[in-house]
Amino acid sequence: MKAFRGEILSVPDDPAVVGTEAIRHFDDGLLVVEDGLVLACGPHRALSEKFADVPTEKLDGLIVPGFVDAHVHYPQIGSIASHGEQLMQWLERHIFPAEKAFADRAHADSIAAFFLDELLRHGTTSALVFATVHPGSIDALFEAALQRDMRIVSGKVLMDLGPEGLRDTVSTGRADTEALIARWRGRGRLGYAVTPRFVPTSSEEQLADAGALLTEHPDVLMHTHLSENPGEIEFVASRFPDAADYLDVYDRFGLVGPRSVFAHCVHMSDRALSRVAEAGSGIAFCPTSNMFLGSGLFDLARADRHGVRIAIGTDIGAGTSLSVLHTLGEAYKICQLKGASLDPFRALHLATAGGARVMGIGDRVGALLPGQEADFILLDENSTPLLARRCSGASLHDRLFALQVLGDDRSIAATYLRGAKVHR
Ligand SMILES: [Zn+2]
Repeated sequence: MKAFRGEILSVPDDPAVVGTEAIRHFDDGLLVVEDGLVLACGPHRALSEKFADVPTEKLDGLIVPGFVDAHVHYPQIGSIASHGEQLMQWLERHIFPAEKAFADRAHADSIAAFFLDELLRHGTTSALVFATVHPGSIDALFEAALQRDMRIVSGKVLMDLGPEGLRDTVSTGRADTEALIARWRGRGRLGYAVTPRFVPTSSEEQLADAGALLTEHPDVLMHTHLSENPGEIEFVASRFPDAADYLDVYDRFGLVGPRSVFAHCVHMSDRALSRVAEAGSGIAFCPTSNMFLGSGLFDLARADRHGVRIAIGTDIGAGTSLSVLHTLGEAYKICQLKGASLDPFRALHLATAGGARVMGIGDRVGALLPGQEADFILLDENSTPLLARRCSGASLHDRLFALQVLGDDRSIAATYLRGAKVHR
């Protein structure tokens, strides 16, 4: 058993729904960890007597749950900041060539290791990750995540209509998916997601088979893209002229349910948003990616009116930072452009417990509640002179907001997985 003493903040519930009661803040708090799990978390004065004999480390900074990145592509990490295109042309020109290299397992191993170390350096402890069409890309990612004891959910990409060199078939897609689920089920903190890339790269037969896989394996997620970019949406509408909208195509094949996570959803009808909410699916809001590819501005307030579950995604390599802090600052700006305001406590909720819930791991991580895995980070408000100046003497609300607007990987003083320090 060990304990950490310092300022602790977590937001287990959505403040937009339950109000300020959602915020758990202890100026001088104690986080007690046993066997990697949170045993207690509360004010030091209330817990210090009971845990007086437990070795306690004093942490200087703000302790918050580790970040949850609910949409990110590890094979695209080296393609970040590729200039000049919107989604469909960007994929052709920059991304598909980079993903083809993952046929080589050694390449996949080296990128997976780099990617996961970068996540930890940026304070991200759980992620829902796109790999490539190659089953080896999943073995590489899962082996690296197992070594680091990270909570990672991913799946081989299904794309039987993909370009030459990045194409599976309905039958190889199914066989590889089944084999990967069997090989990795129950190991470490890993989870599987059936992952059709998006409608343009899968046949109707493959989409139907993805729906069947989801039904046959009640412990897996479904992870894909939805209504991201105007060019993509036009393409889907021309292929399925009788579908009510893009979401309706997924719905026809049994891919819309409580285990489904849809990245983007920038251009959504009220019908589609209400269907997502009714199905209990989650949306990964990816602000930096949506601006970088010129896709559009996600309407969080509108999604809220429908009661949709929201998570935050960096969407590297279309996203421009692996920092969830920075991503929250950009989310704030998009909400401003849509005439709404994103509260910093709510932003933290979406990037921790909210994202964990969307990923189906809300009982395990995200809120530092007793029984949860002790994945947490230490935020440093003095990481830059400007941040230090803005935070000096400021309220918790203003400090948290300043961290989101001015902070990035420099503000992550340390990252802990199950109570063990893994970065800095
Ligand atoms: Zn993506």
